[in-house]
Amino acid sequence: MKYYIIFGPPGAGKGTQSQLLAQKYSLKHISTGQLLRDEIAKGSEIGLIAKKVIDNGEFVEDSIVLEMIRLQISDPAPGIKGFIFDGFPRTINQAKVFDTMLAQLNNGEVNGVLSLEVKDSLIVERIQKRARIEGREDDSSIKTILSRIKTYHNKTEPLISFYKRQGKYFAINGDQSVEEITENIGTLLEIL
Ligand code: AMP
Repeated sequence: MKYYIIFGPPGAGKGTQSQLLAQKYSLKHISTGQLLRDEIAKGSEIGLIAKKVIDNGEFVEDSIVLEMIRLQISDPAPGIKGFIFDGFPRTINQAKVFDTMLAQLNNGEVNGVLSLEVKDSLIVERIQKRARIEGREDDSSIKTILSRIKTYHNKTEPLISFYKRQGKYFAINGDQSVEEITENIGTLLEIL
């Protein structure tokens, strides 16, 4: 099984790329943000907790997200070659627990972190555009958008050196067309 992470700030295009790559390379796309939005739509207990946190642009507790991931990867559907994680891990603790989980569950490891590098100034513009298309609540308020960017810098960016130290970090210029980015990442997936 292959385990790839699509990394980058909010609005970098992780979701779009993950969907395209999942289809092209027979991978299962796992978006923790989408799983949480599904819980909110169901009105579950996790959903109620998640909604408040997401609307504030902060992170849902590691334990909740890690349990979701464990459930998703423990019973892979026949025919899939691996997983593509979008929006996970988002903290150093999530990354560390994930490494242990992969080793214990499937004797696996993270094969590569594909990082979409995009400047903050472009991010706000892209998220506001997505708000008009997808109608996500956390995309609609500028206060939430700025808080998400701040949370990303504080809590997620440290993962860059974490994965660089493991030799697993690959930077991709996120300011290219969707097709060009898919091609750049595809070239990497074929060797990782
Ligand atoms: P996303 O769809 O990846 O932009 O995620 C939307 C929101 O869900 C984030 O702003 C977080 O509040 C929450 N979320 C998604 N993934 C995680 C994660 N791995 N850890 C903590 N919170 C998360």
